[in-house]
Amino acid sequence: MRFRMLAAVTALWAGAAQADLTIKNVTLYDGTGAPARAGVTVVVKGDRISEIGTDAKTRGKVIDGTGKYLIPGLMDAHIHLPGGQTGNVNNPSERRLVVDKPVGMKYLHGYLYVGVTAIYDSSNNPDYIFAMREDEQKGRIVSPRIFGAGGIITVPNGYASGPAASKVENWEQAKAELDKRLVAKPDMLKIAMDRQGILAQPAVPGLSNDMFAQIVQYAASKGARSTVHIAAEADGEVVINAGVSALAHPVWRSIANDSFIKLAAAKKIPIATTLSYLGNIARVQDDPTFWDDPLYRATIEPDEVERGKTTERQRYQDNGMSPMMKLMLPHAMRNTKRLHDAGAVLALGTDRTQPPAVHQELELLAKSGISAFDCIRIATLNGAAYVGRDKYFGSVETGKWADMLLLDADPAADVLNFRKIAAVIKGGKEINRSKLDIPANRRK
Ligand SMILES: [Zn+2]
Repeated sequence: MRFRMLAAVTALWAGAAQADLTIKNVTLYDGTGAPARAGVTVVVKGDRISEIGTDAKTRGKVIDGTGKYLIPGLMDAHIHLPGGQTGNVNNPSERRLVVDKPVGMKYLHGYLYVGVTAIYDSSNNPDYIFAMREDEQKGRIVSPRIFGAGGIITVPNGYASGPAASKVENWEQAKAELDKRLVAKPDMLKIAMDRQGILAQPAVPGLSNDMFAQIVQYAASKGARSTVHIAAEADGEVVINAGVSALAHPVWRSIANDSFIKLAAAKKIPIATTLSYLGNIARVQDDPTFWDDPLYRATIEPDEVERGKTTERQRYQDNGMSPMMKLMLPHAMRNTKRLHDAGAVLALGTDRTQPPAVHQELELLAKSGISAFDCIRIATLNGAAYVGRDKYFGSVETGKWADMLLLDADPAADVLNFRKIAAVIKGGKEINRSKLDIPANRRK
């Protein structure tokens, strides 16, 4: 009896043990900005990359990488995962907090399907997003790695002052809210610094420059990183000088002055690109056909596609956001390219909830004049740097978490080749894309 139980326990452990993996004879872009290396073998032991070389000895399951390209898994450094709130996203008073994990799971599966192995949720219902993060960390769900901010910090009636937000009027309130927020160990706090409301909307109150600096410095003293919503250059300058860790957007309300571009580049502040946020809201007015993109059809429920093309499109026209974004997008693209040329750290971020927006973001980055080769690092290692975890993941280097994307075509030749996915590997395990809970797999 005792033996049999021991055998059962051993069998259980054997089942739980991670199989090793080898990708043989592949062309590698490691994500660090190093040039391609052909004929490389990448060996994974457990959840880590253990060896990379032309004569590395294979382990475990072998994937033939002949004619294929290996890059790190993609990261979206600015999303808001559905399932934590309901109601009109542009009207904080209509928002309600919910914890709807099944809703979120569909999107998480969608992200994996399109090659995303890590996301940063840049403000949400904290009870929801940190529960999802725990599920992922404990291996209870099939999901990209989840990093989260929890609730945003703003002022009463200020930008993004929905039900999940900390709405603070003075430093005593701010300190109390921070102490409360930090208990949940947000990967990065999110703060709003914008007095212009949502673009075409009337101006709103905002944090004072001094309060902002106090919040960031207090968070830093507790070991917490912080990111900030800004859209105007003046706010961007204030937050960088106050010591914020990252920006949730590039400047988009104007063509930035050289002084701002130089400051952001010199400080090496990671900046989430979010061009598809502006791009999709601008574009939906004249051309909502991007909702018919095969990746949208594969990962987004048909009723959401329909809403995107009809009611949501109408809402963006009625509230003035579509015409406004049309004016702002060229500024954002030009500033993004100039930041890149000056040596700033750009991290791919969409500020969308639809997983395929990651590929639209790559297209907009390319349209801005950034090379497809540079996009590899922007979409991988720089995302990990955004959340301060680039020591652990974001590149294909020994010792790092084995999060990788195998592609059928050369991503440095064309950003559209990031879509040609042969395999998605997260934590050393190949994701079974045909088993993900997405519309494409239900239509079979
Ligand atoms: Zn956002």
